[in-house]
Amino acid sequence: MKLRIAHLYPDLLNLYGDIGNITTIRKRCEWRDIQTQVDSVYGNKKITFTDYDLVFLGGGSDREQLLVRDKLISMKKEISAYVENGGVLVAVCGGYQLLGSYYKLEKETIQGLEILDIQTEVGDTRLISNVVLENEQFGTIVGFENHGGRTNINNHTPLGKVLYGNGNNGKDGYEGVVYKNVIATYLHGSLLPKNPVLSDHIIKMMLEQRGLPSELKPLDDSIENEAHKYIVDRFVNSKK
Ligand code: GLN
Repeated sequence: MKLRIAHLYPDLLNLYGDIGNITTIRKRCEWRDIQTQVDSVYGNKKITFTDYDLVFLGGGSDREQLLVRDKLISMKKEISAYVENGGVLVAVCGGYQLLGSYYKLEKETIQGLEILDIQTEVGDTRLISNVVLENEQFGTIVGFENHGGRTNINNHTPLGKVLYGNGNNGKDGYEGVVYKNVIATYLHGSLLPKNPVLSDHIIKMMLEQRGLPSELKPLDDSIENEAHKYIVDRFVNSKK
């Protein structure tokens, strides 16, 4: 048994070491004797989404988002079907925005996949910050954001409440979206190395989707937890 991961456009969507998310999933699987395979999808290559247990879309500049837009739109039906059937998808920042209806820039609008009912518009400043979120299931989630877009998530469930940083739009106090088995977020960092609870949640979803036992052997997360705690202490606890 092998869990298969599709990494979409790693040459264009890979800001702030987003590939570290894939490394984290692979390592945490390997430490539990679960084999993984990563297929990087470049150019106009098409894949069969049902072959995969995780699809990953990283962040990118506006220019790079424009470059991948048509490639993504050409697979719109297949990606939507994958998500609607419970496929696990993690999208960061630029990738998150592209799951929505559109990302409106000053001079043009980048059409999205319309998987999420979210809309993004560029603001006149960039939202750059360390971020700490609170999520009922996962506890705190830490990361780093750098985006010009402001995202309105309408009735979607956010990934977390912002304890520090800007989040989706710097106004409503929420960050990211959780929809079916999709986790979409502005958080780079990379996101997963310092959030082992979230990483294991993703691995569990992957195993469950494949109909495999999803009980995970505990790992020694002392280093990961220390890195996580450092951020929470520095940006949240020290301000109390
Ligand atoms: N280009 C998008 C924005 O600035 C996404 C940036 C990113 O992925 N960090 O909002």
